[in-house]
Amino acid sequence: MKIILATSNKGKVKEIQKSFDMFEVVPFDKIIEPFEIEENGSSFKENAIIKAKAVYKAIDDKDAIVLSDDSGISVPVLGNEPGIKSARYAGDNAIAKDNLLKLINELKKRDIKKTPAFYTAAIALATKDGIFSVHGWMYGEVIDEARGENGFGYDPMFIPEGFDKTLGELDESVKKELSHRSKALKLIKRVLW
Ligand code: IMP
Repeated sequence: MKIILATSNKGKVKEIQKSFDMFEVVPFDKIIEPFEIEENGSSFKENAIIKAKAVYKAIDDKDAIVLSDDSGISVPVLGNEPGIKSARYAGDNAIAKDNLLKLINELKKRDIKKTPAFYTAAIALATKDGIFSVHGWMYGEVIDEARGENGFGYDPMFIPEGFDKTLGELDESVKKELSHRSKALKLIKRVLW
């Protein structure tokens, strides 16, 4: 079975391919000309559905199976920011490092060394049978510095519950077991078979 991913984010593509190693998983920009998808939903779920539907329509093959992921990190002490703005926290053209540094800076401004945080992943599937969506969460804490090179995005400042190292420092197998994305992918697999 071939699954087309409505994302070209390398970190997400890698994690989804590892989790779905029994399927052929192909980012949409390897099949069609990539295009901008306006993520104007008000929740992770709405944005995931917008992306899955946009790519399904553009692929123009009714038998296609398109999977999207909309995800981000929320910090309660910052009013759950950056939340759905995680990819654009430091501005519209921000790269992952800019966003990470902005979140570190927001903690430093408030003299916060460590505070609870959580990741959310909404995964949507667009198929000829309709749209399906699920969520997964990972809880832990963010710290006011970046440690380690593993993972992507905010991982170097996120310490999952039960650990004392960041996802940047921990082996990638830990994230595969615990992550918001892994949990959501496990649920969406049930829709696929
Ligand atoms: P999206 O492409 O709009 O879903 O943006 C998600 C953004 O949230 C990414 O660009 C990352 O900044 C952040 N993010 C989502 N999942 C993760 C993760 O597993 N680790 C680190 N950052 C993540």
